[in-house]
Amino acid sequence: MVRISENINLAEYTSFGAHATATRMVEWSTTNELLAYLASDEGKEHLSDRWTILGEGCNTLFTKDFLGTIIRSTAKGITITEESAEHTTIRVAAGEVWDDVVAWSTERGLWGMENLSAIPSSVGASAVQNIGAYGTEAKDVIESVEVVMLDTLTTENIPSSKCKFGYRESIFKEELAGKAIITAVTYRLSKSATPRLDYGTLRPEVERTGDYTPQGIRNAVRAIRDSKLPDPKKIGNAGSFFKNPILPREQVERLKAQYPTMPVYDVAEESDKLKIATGWMIDSLGWKGKALGRAGVHANQALVLINLGGATGEEVMALANRICGEVKDKFGVDISPEVNVL
Ligand SMILES: Cc1cc2nc3c(=O)[nH]c(=O)nc-3n(C[C@H](O)[C@H](O)[C@H](O)COP(=O)(O)OP(=O)(O)OC[C@H]3O[C@@H](n4cnc5c(N)ncnc54)[C@H](O)[C@@H]3O)c2cc1C
Repeated sequence: MVRISENINLAEYTSFGAHATATRMVEWSTTNELLAYLASDEGKEHLSDRWTILGEGCNTLFTKDFLGTIIRSTAKGITITEESAEHTTIRVAAGEVWDDVVAWSTERGLWGMENLSAIPSSVGASAVQNIGAYGTEAKDVIESVEVVMLDTLTTENIPSSKCKFGYRESIFKEELAGKAIITAVTYRLSKSATPRLDYGTLRPEVERTGDYTPQGIRNAVRAIRDSKLPDPKKIGNAGSFFKNPILPREQVERLKAQYPTMPVYDVAEESDKLKIATGWMIDSLGWKGKALGRAGVHANQALVLINLGGATGEEVMALANRICGEVKDKFGVDISPEVNVL
């Protein structure tokens, strides 16, 4: 049976720690349990009203009380589904903590997840967000995603090729938003050494320790992240608040001529477009380490908005909107939140 609780303090379920309440939370631990709830009169009544899905709440900001139902997976389990000389394939329940899965894989010397160490996420959201860091994205290891379809109450296993993965994008944020609940993700991990160290300061950090194993790379990623990013247990935040815009090459070349130090990145699969760094633009506007009320911009990482203590979601959005306006005025570029704002 699902577990239903009422009058939920969402600050405890989201990394921003902004105060808001939800009418109820429904937690499911097996797919059959979820299906039975969705088919029940109670489930139908709840879902006929406002509802949403929450994982670890590390990419979600509630700006007001949520008058409706939050559906959350507590499903756990990592199962090896296929083993060959080259690969290990694992099926992981949606409610597993992503970093526990990364630790599981690197402890076994398996390659593919190590660069994505320490990203706070549920397994379900790893596919929704196509989480990424240090030149790697979840799509690189996702083989398929299991869902419950809400219209038919059937299960489907969607192959990675049909998930429309892009930069922090997937089919689960678009066509299937509000139509499917992810119940498990299957990842394919490699047994051959495939280190990817050409991003940021990862290579020098690994060279410093001399440990080129998946575990060594995981440790290096964790060390770099610890030195740069605020720990949500101490300072409320949701990681990068904004996406880095992907713009037509000509527009970026004009910006680069005007601002020669602006970082610009190639976009795989899109040669006519380039990605620019929102953090750099926010920094150049002088926002790093500054605050608006109880919401602020992190002193080490301008892309990260923080809760300085007691900030409401509305206060965080007031700061975000002010920054968006200033970026537009100075650079003529529209930036949008990576965070799911409700
Ligand atoms: C300190 C910090 C650092 C971060 N660094 C990174 C980083 O390096 N790279 C990166 O990509 N992200 C990063 N993030 C953002 C965040 O970790 C990811 O977006 C992560 O995937 C959020 O997972 P979650 O379970 O908390 O998602 P939530 O915030 O709970 O949910 C995110 C979205 O997924 C949907 N969802 C969740 N579970 C399911 C499901 N089972 N079925 C269908 N939909 C579902 C929700 O409805 C919501 O739309 C960081 C965040 C923090 C706080």
